[in-house]
Amino acid sequence: MKKFGKLSCLIIKKKHLFIALLVLLFVISSIGVFFIVNTVNGETYINTIVIDAGHGGIDGGSIGYSGTIEKDINLEYSKTLKNMCSEFGFKVVMTRTNDSGLYSPFAVNKKKDDMKKRKQIIEKAKPDIVISIHMNSTQGKSSRGAQVFYNKENEHSINLANSIQKQFQDKLVKPRKTAQSGDYYIVNCTPYTSVIVECGFLSNKEEEKLLLSNDYKNNVCYSILCGIIDYMA
Ligand SMILES: [Zn+2]
Repeated sequence: MKKFGKLSCLIIKKKHLFIALLVLLFVISSIGVFFIVNTVNGETYINTIVIDAGHGGIDGGSIGYSGTIEKDINLEYSKTLKNMCSEFGFKVVMTRTNDSGLYSPFAVNKKKDDMKKRKQIIEKAKPDIVISIHMNSTQGKSSRGAQVFYNKENEHSINLANSIQKQFQDKLVKPRKTAQSGDYYIVNCTPYTSVIVECGFLSNKEEEKLLLSNDYKNNVCYSILCGIIDYMA
């Protein structure tokens, strides 16, 4: 599997993304999907990934340089990642598939209720991996770069984060150099291997434009998928 991980790193060029994905799928179908299907206590199961599109409903998240609302673009990236992971053979559970937040309309603290529901979905799915998709933003307009965040107490999460960040280094325009620990609810709320992927800075004019392009979205999601595969291998 190590060989395959290296191969997937070598073949990607931005404009050849689609071909690379086809090659990837072909190679996988040739060598089998043995690391997607596991046997535990005599029972086989398919590796499960929870994909969490950050924010939603009344919580729009950050606002981009030209007005992009984070919750919308998070959902688009999450759906693309879901398609790639499903095609690869993973079972995928989404925390949300539309614009709505997960909170009850009667909840007094809707943000807290929303996060509690996400935790419940993760616990029910018993996933191998949780990927929470977000877009970053700062006051300083020059900050840019995709970056993965993890709970520093969870060794598996650190490994997954480093694996995805390495793919960003190989495939994206000016990503951050390293993954980083962060004290965030979604990576702390369960013991499952969990990372937050901040796909880029909406506050950066140039990067917001990139993030809104289909090519870049596919490239980011493909990088995440490669990172997951490398981590599992
Ligand atoms: Zn966010």
